[in-house]
Amino acid sequence: MINQKQDWDVRTRSEACVKCTKPFSDQEEFLSRLFFGEEGYQREDICRACWEAVSAEPALSIWQSVFRLPPPPPPETLRKETAESLLRKLIEEDNAAHANTIYILAVMLERRRLLVERDVLVREDGVKLRVYEYRKTNETFVIRDPELKLAELEHVQEEVVLMLGGGGEQPASPAQEEPQVDANARE
Ligand SMILES: [Zn+2]
Repeated sequence: MINQKQDWDVRTRSEACVKCTKPFSDQEEFLSRLFFGEEGYQREDICRACWEAVSAEPALSIWQSVFRLPPPPPPETLRKETAESLLRKLIEEDNAAHANTIYILAVMLERRRLLVERDVLVREDGVKLRVYEYRKTNETFVIRDPELKLAELEHVQEEVVLMLGGGGEQPASPAQEEPQVDANARE
């Protein structure tokens, strides 16, 4: 059970198995597990061959992934703020005032199939945490679920659209690119 108040985190995938240190190869299946320790969330990626020996050990979450060789870095063009870059920035800032926005961005990315939900955890203080995996990089995103009511959703969505449009040179209508998080939230 998690007993520390850390609401968000991103953990990157290892390039090699933490047990035998053998580098993962492209398309190799591996297992990931998440712990909470002195330094916050800790993630371990383990190859199939090593898994048997540690499978009985307790962990917060365990899931299976496929290793993909990282794509070459995108050219340093004028990237506008996207749901993904904004999510990363807000997690980095770690400001509780952005809890709803962070969650809505994660939901947006999940609906676009960029994030996949791997687990839902309930902390000792009752806070619900969703564990997502970013498909392209296998990174783990731990996101606090603020358990928004429908009435709150629209307000948060407007805030998110504003943040996506307000940050750069993008002239108009970010809503065209950022689909509504939940059409049913509109009256
Ligand atoms: Zn191994």
